[in-house]
Amino acid sequence: MKKLFLIIGAPGSGKTTDAELIAAKHDTITHYSTGDMFRAEVASGSEQGKLIDSYVSKGNLVPIEIVIETIVGAIKKAPTDVVIIDGYPRSGEQMTELDKYLATEDEVELMNVIEVAVSKETAFQRVLGRAADAEVVRADDNEEVFLNRMKLFTDPLEEIQAFYSEKNLLKQISGEGTIEEIVSEMDKFIQSRV
Ligand code: ADP
Repeated sequence: MKKLFLIIGAPGSGKTTDAELIAAKHDTITHYSTGDMFRAEVASGSEQGKLIDSYVSKGNLVPIEIVIETIVGAIKKAPTDVVIIDGYPRSGEQMTELDKYLATEDEVELMNVIEVAVSKETAFQRVLGRAADAEVVRADDNEEVFLNRMKLFTDPLEEIQAFYSEKNLLKQISGEGTIEEIVSEMDKFIQSRV
């Protein structure tokens, strides 16, 4: 039985970094980031990658069929029972599609959806600060695309929170502290659930 944790959070919330650090501490956990998986496909130069790039470079959501294929593929290929995916769900539709998939799949259980919560100001500073410091700047880390990513994150957030709160699966963690503090809180929580 695979135990699935999803991590959601604004651009700049640190969700990918936090999950990577937790997976690095435990041989029993595999982590995938939707954004990283899409960037890898873009970097491969495939036709699918070109299509994905036309969305990611503008900060728009990649089409649902590709997203579902990507996350289901990741869950299936994960070599461990505990799987963390960050960056999913990002819309009501993605949430409903996952729910349908889980209803047909006895071997996968959704344990929790962890929201890493940061203010818009923190998100803005981290993303545009990261762009200013980085050696290789992400094409979507500029102000215009950031604002679009932020809006697309914020618009469905209440619906997503309500859906998982109702199922008692939502765990909110403040993303305002240091990486060590956030990772420690998230790690303890995940360990308490597996
Ligand atoms: P951030 O959360 O900081 O915007 P990510 O690396 O998580 O960065 O995602 C980068 C981009 O990848 C998004 O702006 C979007 O284009 C695409 N993406 C990531 N996750 C999803 C998803 N679940 N559905 C659709 N598109 C996604």
